[in-house]
Amino acid sequence: QRASSPTNEYVYELDRQYVFHSWSAQGRLDPLVIAGGFGCEVWDFAGRRYLDFSSQLVNTNIGHQHPRVIRAIQEQAATLATIAPSTANLARGEAARRILARAPAGFSKVFFTNAGADANENAMRMARLYTGRRKILSAYRSYHGNTGSAIVATGDPRRFPNEFATDHAHFFNPYLYRSEFDARTEEEECRRALHHLRRVIECEGPGTVAALLLESVPGTAGILVPPRGYLPGVRALADEFGILLILDEVMAGFGRTGSWLALDQFDVIPDLITFAKGVNSGYVPAGGVMIAEKICRFFDERVFPGGLTYSGHPLAMAAIVATLDAMEEENLVGHADAIGRELLGPGLKRLADRHECVGEVRGLGLFWAIELVADRTTRAPLPSAQMARLKAALLARGLLAFVVDNRVHVVPPCVVSREQVLLALDIYDDALAALQR
Ligand code: PLP
Repeated sequence: QRASSPTNEYVYELDRQYVFHSWSAQGRLDPLVIAGGFGCEVWDFAGRRYLDFSSQLVNTNIGHQHPRVIRAIQEQAATLATIAPSTANLARGEAARRILARAPAGFSKVFFTNAGADANENAMRMARLYTGRRKILSAYRSYHGNTGSAIVATGDPRRFPNEFATDHAHFFNPYLYRSEFDARTEEEECRRALHHLRRVIECEGPGTVAALLLESVPGTAGILVPPRGYLPGVRALADEFGILLILDEVMAGFGRTGSWLALDQFDVIPDLITFAKGVNSGYVPAGGVMIAEKICRFFDERVFPGGLTYSGHPLAMAAIVATLDAMEEENLVGHADAIGRELLGPGLKRLADRHECVGEVRGLGLFWAIELVADRTTRAPLPSAQMARLKAALLARGLLAFVVDNRVHVVPPCVVSREQVLLALDIYDDALAALQR
């Protein structure tokens, strides 16, 4: 076969022969072939179309192939495709200005990275240098990336084979449906989780802790919307013990939750904010750290010992500028909020009423999880073989789903239409019904 007229079979074979994949035993892979996409849809070389309710890895917030972002990347490529980070570059400055316009008051600079993991890596480095302390405390139910400290800060079991970095400890974050604190109400869960965090800080030695690192709304761990008082309570503990607060907005940020940043909805101001994914929908890899003024000042006369060849890469920066401008002009953040409140949230809650295997649905904006159980009383998770059947049933009905453990994460791009949400709800309904038959 010739690559100039590719087929699904050719692309599949090419991949299986030459590509080494993430997070996988290489002999047990069956990748979906994707040829193109637009908005909330992707398709293969045979013309089979899928509704993308995964946003890939929850990053294409602006949808696939947004014309304005594509044009900006093309124009930047024609002007200056790459330049060293030590130079002053128009796209980089404009991107940083636009990002900081979405940060809380008191954030004054952005350090750009290649993605989310190295954003967290650098935020932890800044916190360690600023405080002169070494330990990072983060949540068990979290994912922060797959590099040195980021994967050890991660709470989920992908940490286990990667525990090479030192000076990390973990705590339980709130998750009322599977409470570690025997709580019955959000208020109880919040109070007990904060007491637990206080005890972890005290037992780790407050004077050793540089930062608390948390996702504003833990994503991969299950879209665990925190109780109202939790993040303000974490901020108060950080202040009491002279610890910095890093909020990871890599997945939750830039429209996903129906606000520019998820933290906007939780009455909390951290010291460092990490981002990636939605900032330019991943059209060109980029991430970064938004830095509060006091930490910027600390590095005014001290050398910051970090850097990356592609920090602030012009193609990625042009994509950020165009993405944020398009999201603003098309009111995509308001749209994500309205669709979540009026259509997607209520629709998913109806699914929970209709299907015995749905234990809970939770979320906000376009960031929702359907948690599946084998038994509603014991809340035993639906076994993985049944989850795989559900994922296949969704795909067979034309919906690309994001499945983690015993959950389906419902995370469409922010450009999703009302008609597409209604169609997806029908597909989830039908696939859940088929699963129970
Ligand atoms: N932080 C969070 C909350 C994430 O969800 C992810 C990726 O899913 C990361 C960090 C790591 O980002 P990346 O894969 O771009 O390194």
